[in-house]
Amino acid sequence: MSIIVQKFGGTSVANAEKILAAAKRAVDLKRAGNQVVMVVSARGKKTDELVDLAEEITDTPSPREMDMLLSIGEQESVALVAMAIQKLGEKAVSLTGGQIGIVTDSTHTKSRIRKISTERMKKHLDDGAIVVACGFQGVDDEGNITTLGRGGSDTTASALAAALQAEECEIYTDVNGVYTTDPRIVPEARRIGTISYDDMLEMASLGAGVMHSRSIEFAKKFNVKLRVKPSFSFEEGTLIAPVGDDADRPVTGLAIVKNEARVSLKGIPDRPGVMSTVFSKLAARKIPIDMVVQNVVSGGKAEVTFTVPEEDLAATLTAAQQAVADVGSGTVTSGTNVAKVSAVGTGMRTNTGVAAKMFRCLADAGVNIQMITTSDIKISVLVDRDVSKQSITAVHRGFELDQPAPAAAHPATPKKKTDTKALQSAIVDRLGNMEDIVVSEVLHDDGQSRITIHNVQDRPGLCAEIFEAVAAGNFLVDMIVQNISENGATEVSFTVPRSDLERCLQTMSDLLSRLHGAYVSHDRDISTLSVMGIGLRTHTGVGEKMFKALADAGINIKLINTSEIRICAVVSREQGASGHQHLLAAFGLK
Ligand code: ADP
Ligand code: ASP
Ligand code: MG
Repeated sequence: MSIIVQKFGGTSVANAEKILAAAKRAVDLKRAGNQVVMVVSARGKKTDELVDLAEEITDTPSPREMDMLLSIGEQESVALVAMAIQKLGEKAVSLTGGQIGIVTDSTHTKSRIRKISTERMKKHLDDGAIVVACGFQGVDDEGNITTLGRGGSDTTASALAAALQAEECEIYTDVNGVYTTDPRIVPEARRIGTISYDDMLEMASLGAGVMHSRSIEFAKKFNVKLRVKPSFSFEEGTLIAPVGDDADRPVTGLAIVKNEARVSLKGIPDRPGVMSTVFSKLAARKIPIDMVVQNVVSGGKAEVTFTVPEEDLAATLTAAQQAVADVGSGTVTSGTNVAKVSAVGTGMRTNTGVAAKMFRCLADAGVNIQMITTSDIKISVLVDRDVSKQSITAVHRGFELDQPAPAAAHPATPKKKTDTKALQSAIVDRLGNMEDIVVSEVLHDDGQSRITIHNVQDRPGLCAEIFEAVAAGNFLVDMIVQNISENGATEVSFTVPRSDLERCLQTMSDLLSRLHGAYVSHDRDISTLSVMGIGLRTHTGVGEKMFKALADAGINIKLINTSEIRICAVVSREQGASGHQHLLAAFGLK
């Protein structure tokens, strides 16, 4: 008999009528001959209300008590859902995270799953009951109630599906599936039929709230078949699978984080170990950082800017102050009224001119880009929060994301044929805990050079002009970073294959005649070291480990970029091979 996991989000169990409708789906599935595990979230806005209630009491609630409080939302739901199933004539048993046997670490409000025991669930299933499990919660080794972070019921569902080796995990929600971007922000967004794990993971991590990003990590790691479906109708929804429909398109979807914050550390020493110190302070607080841009200013002083979710800003500033004190010099500044807009697509790897096109869409919409970072599968820009909606709408239109890919002309075929099952189980065998980091490879590319344009007047259209010139020359750009401007001037760096360096420098000098006061520098001999895996940005420890290994080897980092599947550091070419060896050793891949 196959096991199917069905997860119902808050709006899908908001009232008695919806609870009965959810129960009916499970009952129908059971009567069709399946064993059914339901995972249920707190009803409607219950979790928000509990958060507000705590805020009325104190600004600094203890994380342990927050977990105790928030977990009751799910407990209410499961009892009601179990009653509804019983009313429809089937056996049902509701279970809390602890009763299921979901054991997590003790990082309250952001805990990670260590293990799940399936015994109790299996016993009830074999006894003919539908198991109704609380999403979002677990217990630590001491029996304290923990929660997995907001939106974490998706992760419970995907983890239970993995542990039970379920046939499929269905995520019922208040939209028809996964769209090219949030349909509540961009009404012309299109539902995607099948999206790849990597695209979905990156979109979720960059703000697509439809799925908790860690649920996609589980799905990819343990090969769980995930389907996002509407709870209000019987449409097919979106399948999340190894390869998506849009594999050959440069951009699969867009994501937005409206409440992003920017933090800069200025005047810090330019030497190995500084980034490692900064990262370790943030990782210790499990703060995921994004959009890391660093540059050397003058006199051996460097500066680094990155973004964090605004809710983590206070903790980030404390950690950054500690880092500055530890490295011996520097000041910390921050900015809030900003939003992060990202374009995601595994197809970006093989398409040129994607960045130029995105920057042109923004320029034509009159949007000034404050910062840029890219990785192999995403381009993120930081913009003024007030123009975030027009930014995402313009990019969506520019890439014609409302139109399906011409399917017949470009069948979505996997680039490399690999035995994913074997690969996954090899990875899983190495894991001590279910949510452990998976680092599968460390790569070394020593064929790149860096070009930087300094002192350019920051204005809408600047980056569009630069990268249109680059795209016209057919240069395959790997990394782009633009730093926040100071006194109206900014700095833009990118990498190109070394064999194209001279030609690209010529293109840039033609462009410079139009950019008053700007000048170009370059670094012919760089190496790019990449750590590959699943869930790398969310697992703050990966960056920490990578930068520490390089620092311990006396290697200075020049540029950084991150995605959920690759963290990449640029170092000098002469240190590339040694850096590679140190990273292989640090991640146990030697
Ligand atoms: P649930 O309570 O069912 O977990 P969520 O509110 O967490 O539901 O997620 C569903 C919401 O995610 C949708 O209502 C939609 O506004 C938002 N969303 C953001 N990005 C996307 C996207 N790319 N596709 C679909 N929905 C999205
Ligand atoms: N109830 C929790 C929240 O609102 C978990 C979830 O809905 O996934 O964040
Ligand atoms: Mg959700």
